[in-house]
Amino acid sequence: MLTLKNIKKVYEKSDEAVLDDINLTFNRDEFVSILGCSGAGKSTLLNVIGGLDCKSSGKLLINGKDIYKCNDSNLDYYRKNNVGFIFQNYNLIEHLTVYENVMLPLLLTNYKNKHKRVLKMLDKVGLKDKKVLNKKPYELSGGEKQRVAICRALINNPDIILADEPTGALDYKTGYEIMNLIKKLSKNKLVIMVTHNKVLAKNYSSRIIYLD
Ligand code: ADP
Repeated sequence: MLTLKNIKKVYEKSDEAVLDDINLTFNRDEFVSILGCSGAGKSTLLNVIGGLDCKSSGKLLINGKDIYKCNDSNLDYYRKNNVGFIFQNYNLIEHLTVYENVMLPLLLTNYKNKHKRVLKMLDKVGLKDKKVLNKKPYELSGGEKQRVAICRALINNPDIILADEPTGALDYKTGYEIMNLIKKLSKNKLVIMVTHNKVLAKNYSSRIIYLD
């Protein structure tokens, strides 16, 4: 489903490659964890996979199609429709409500019944209470923020979920609740998760990749 071929990434003003000759293949229905020490290039790799960092060399093939060779609108389409991102610090828009944060990616699509879709998605993560829908992110707990972020990542029904330390800012119990949610909602999807938590990786992944 997703193949990286000879991916190399050198940041500007640096003469050392962060990623060098990375070759990986990912399939639908896999839950892959990427482990490695801090600075190994895990987040960089996830950004490359998500099409957020296009200034790397090599090929990123999605169902055989080279995303880097596509024009900007193809790349935009890929980012908006094929991939959902979940970040450690949630990256919610602070001045928008819970409802609006989840609705935002949908506004760029032709989906019908957007309102119903948002409510259904929030219901799946246990946030259907009307009072919560109108709250701003600063009024939520960390676990609730990550639930909203999961809804936003999944609302366009992407095939690929990219999660960068999704439980990194949460306590142990809430972290497991969030992991269970990601697992439950990602059936028939490819999940690639960056983490430094080996236990979490072992418990949830079908494959672990160590980045040296
Ligand atoms: P990890 O996620 O494994 O901690 P990162 O991918 O964040 O690693 O970073 C890998 C290396 O790339 C680090 O040495 C970091 O300093 C460097 N790096 C990350 N982002 C940038 C950037 N935007 N510009 C320059 N160097 C960067």
